[in-house]
Formats: sequence, structure tokens, C-alpha cells
Amino acid sequence: MTKLGMGMMRLPLVDENDQTSIDMEQVNKMVDLYMDAGFNCFDTAFVYHEGVGEAAFRESVVKRYPRESFKISTKLPLFVITEESQLEPLFAQQLENCGVDYFDYYMLHNVSGFTENAWKNVDLYSFIQKKKEEGYIKHIGISTHGNAEFLEEILFEHPELEFVLLQINYLDWDDEGIDSRKCWEVARKYNKKVMIMEPYKGGFLADVPQEAEKLMKDYNPDRSVVSWAMRFVANIDDVCVVYTGASTLEQLENNIDEFKNADPLNDEEMEIIKEVSDIINSNITVDCTKCRYCVDACAEEIDIAKVFDLYNKHKMLEKEDWTQFGNAYLNYSKLPDVGIASDCIECEACIEECPQSINIPEVLKDVAKTFETEIYGFEN
Ligand code: SF4
Ligand code: SF4
Repeated sequence: MTKLGMGMMRLPLVDENDQTSIDMEQVNKMVDLYMDAGFNCFDTAFVYHEGVGEAAFRESVVKRYPRESFKISTKLPLFVITEESQLEPLFAQQLENCGVDYFDYYMLHNVSGFTENAWKNVDLYSFIQKKKEEGYIKHIGISTHGNAEFLEEILFEHPELEFVLLQINYLDWDDEGIDSRKCWEVARKYNKKVMIMEPYKGGFLADVPQEAEKLMKDYNPDRSVVSWAMRFVANIDDVCVVYTGASTLEQLENNIDEFKNADPLNDEEMEIIKEVSDIINSNITVDCTKCRYCVDACAEEIDIAKVFDLYNKHKMLEKEDWTQFGNAYLNYSKLPDVGIASDCIECEACIEECPQSINIPEVLKDVAKTFETEIYGFEN
């Protein structure tokens, strides 16, 4: 049976411009709400919240709940690995960060083209298998944003893997770039458990264009927009857990309610989902899920995830000249120690970090043109 997992990638912040300023009071309330609702699967990673995500999990869950009452999954950060000697200290650091003696689920983080330096040059699979044999991991797996052929190669070569974490939602299900459905089919073929991430595609599916929302509401005014996304993922076969990453107590409350009421979509509703997907696809300007993997790579300190988010929202508002998102961009540009879109020097260091294969410097040129030149006439 599918469970609802609490993803800890986008936790509430005290200062919205500082990813390390996690609002622990809010996180504690969220964890309590989630546990009280009868769920217990948490997901974090070494890189979340610029390296303090695992510690937030420790403070909020491990220090306040008995170890046997919850399950934790975390991930080996392939992005930083270049040699074998890094593995033991990193793993030990993760156990310490999380405050646990073992991980229930441990995965290689985003095995795909842009982490190949790590998985081609270092024997990561033997390492996690060894850690499992030593009792530090219960189950080993991978997360990936690679395509179905790539996943098949991995699962064929590594029968020891027990599960895969995949990006699945109704918008990506038949998307040629993401290949969700085909990846899920490959995982099933190899009898692997599937975990789902990004069921709302980084929030896109909670905030769809008005035309799409109207289709959903006309069909059933009592159902929220996100309920369609949740019902879609919660009823996919052979999925063990759906991780949703709430940033507020209210979002988490909604996720729990929607999950508990996630009856399967009927044929008519599946048709509506297809129409909704077409509308969203024709409105999305940048396919960014706000994962923030690119942000650390940027020497110009451009908060790429943030400016893309503002840009998408601005574009979604029917091409108005001025929007509150343009205003938010102006506010962002005045913060100390941040780069703006036009600061991009096109070094391309960010591109290989992006699981969505976005040509970031190219898009930043559009962002700069829209927000800086057309709206505000910035001078550089
Ligand atoms: S290409 Fe631009 S956005 Fe990307 S890392 Fe370089 S300066 Fe930063
Ligand atoms: S641009 Fe790519 S790597 Fe950066 S936040 Fe968006 S999806 Fe993630």
C-alpha cells in the first residue's frame, strides 16, 4: 500500500533568502502533525538546505521520537564525489548529521549524466552494498532524473538495488524529456519498489493556469486543484511511498487530507488531466522544479531557482508588463551578496547540475531582458 512521505527539501525558513535559516518551530509542528496523522516516512539529503537539512531532521524527529517509530531515507551526494576516499567520512558525517545508527533507505543521489564523474570513477554501488552488510543501511537504491534506457542499464547491471526514487506526476507522465511512465515501467520490470518525488512538480501543479483550474472545478467544484495531482500519483501501482515537500503547516495539512481522500481518477477525469497538462505545458516558460541543485555552482551567486520561479509566475499572468513578481525581482536584486540575471557570465557551470536539462544561461538572458530591461530599465 502506498504511504505518504514527508520530504524535507523545502522546509519553512525564517529568512526566505537564507536556505539555512530553517524555522525549527514550524518544522516541529509539521512533524507532529504528520506523525499524528499516522505516517512516519521522512526523506532528506546531504545537500538539502545547503547542508543543514539532515541536522534539521535530527533535531525535529530523532531527538523527539523513538527510533523505531519512524523511517528515514537520505542520499549520498554524488555531486561532490571524485574519489573513493571521500565515501567513508561522508557517510559517517551523514549518520552524525541525522543522529541515527542506521538509515532505513539510502540512495545514490541523482544517478544520471551529470553525476557520471562520481559513478563512473568510484565504485559507489559496492560501497552502499558494504554499508548494508555492515548494518548501517536497511535498503539501498538510487534516485535518478535519467531516462528509461539509462535506468534500465543501471537496474540490469545492479540487481542488488532494491528501490528507485523517480520524479512522477501527471505532467511528466508522458513527457518525452522526463519519461516518468517509461521509468516506472522499467522499475516494475526489474521488480524494484518505486518511491515518488515531485508529485506537484515543484508546486506547478498546485498553481495551474486559470483555464486549467476552470476545467477541474467545472467537473467537480468540491475538489481542490492539488487533489488531482495527489490522486494521480497515489493510485499508481507498485509505489511504496509518495514524498511531498511542504513548506508550511497548511500545505502539509492539505497534503495529508488529499492523500487520505485520494480515490482513483476515473476515465473522464484522466481525459481532463490530459487537457490540463496541455494547457500547463503551453504556459510554462521555464521547466524549473526549484530543486536548487544549480545554485551552489554559480560563482556569481545568482539564486537561479528563485529568479526562475518569479519569472514563471510573471509569465503566467497573461503577459502583463508589471506584476508583483517583477516587483519581487526588484526587491531580490537589492539584497546584499546576490547576483541578478544579467550578472551571468555564461560559464555554464550550472547546466550540468540541472536534472531538468534547462539551458540556464540562455533563460537568464530572457529573465534579464524581461525584468531588468523592459520593466525596470536597470543600469549595469
Ligand atoms: S552560467 Fe551563469 S548562472 Fe550558470 S553558473 Fe555560470 S554565471 Fe551562474
Ligand atoms: S534550474 Fe534546474 S537545477 Fe536549478 S533549481 Fe531549476 S530545476 Fe533545479
